[in-house]
Amino acid sequence: MVEIRNVHKRFGDLEVLKGINLTVNRGKIISVIGPSGSGKSTLLRSVNQLEVIDQGKILLDGVQVNRPDKKGLAFERHINHIRQNMGMVFQHFNLFPHLSTIDNVTLAPRKLKGMDKNVARELGMELLDRVGLAEKAEVFPNWLSGGQKQRVAIARALAMQPKVMLFDEATSALDPELVDEVNRVMRGLAEEHMTMLIVTHEMGFARDVSDWAMFMDGGVVVEEGTPDKLFSDPDQERTRNFLSKHL
Ligand code: ATP
Ligand code: MG
Repeated sequence: MVEIRNVHKRFGDLEVLKGINLTVNRGKIISVIGPSGSGKSTLLRSVNQLEVIDQGKILLDGVQVNRPDKKGLAFERHINHIRQNMGMVFQHFNLFPHLSTIDNVTLAPRKLKGMDKNVARELGMELLDRVGLAEKAEVFPNWLSGGQKQRVAIARALAMQPKVMLFDEATSALDPELVDEVNRVMRGLAEEHMTMLIVTHEMGFARDVSDWAMFMDGGVVVEEGTPDKLFSDPDQERTRNFLSKHL
């Protein structure tokens, strides 16, 4: 379970997150929507400690993720531990170009968990199979389509057997015809009750898969609710206005 409590983040004079609260319970899928610049990526990056927040708390299974001691070996270990429990998928895949598909997937469990090479390979093949890419195990990322790259990125994140998966616009860099294959993989994870925090601009997808949806604008949560309520009958004018442009 991830708890985001009164999180503030500023870049210089610009306050990008102005007191965000959100709880992602185990096995639940939360979607975050909102206009460009509203702070969605910053929120996800803060959860994963890619950004250091200025105020508030982030907890993973009751353990505080953000800590005041921002340097030193103990903090490094802490951060690594947290990152190992959160899988993140970015808009631009960020695969290692010099590693084959299977090596991309098995690198982290081998290096960070000290997993035996053969065990890691077996796990990696299982995950590649799950995203429909077992036959591409030996291929390098440059040879893959965008949708395939993103599916490898998902398999790679899953290889650490994370407690929660964070998706930041996982399909927005893809050609339209490649979006479905990635969405299918994400739906599969949802059916298996993976805990997920998803930033997306695809309202239909968010509505279908989420247990809860949150609309952000200008660094605040404007409105949140069940997807049925938020997408069909929002209370706030700002939400209605945004949806009218994006549905
Ligand atoms: P999009 O839908 O375009 O991805 P977003 O909701 O993800 O937008 P963020 O990327 O979180 O928005 O950015 C929120 C604001 O913070 C923007 O005004 C952005 O310019 C600013 N910002 C983000 N990262 C930094 C940074 N490292 N330094 C300075 N400003 C930043
Ligand atoms: Mg973003």
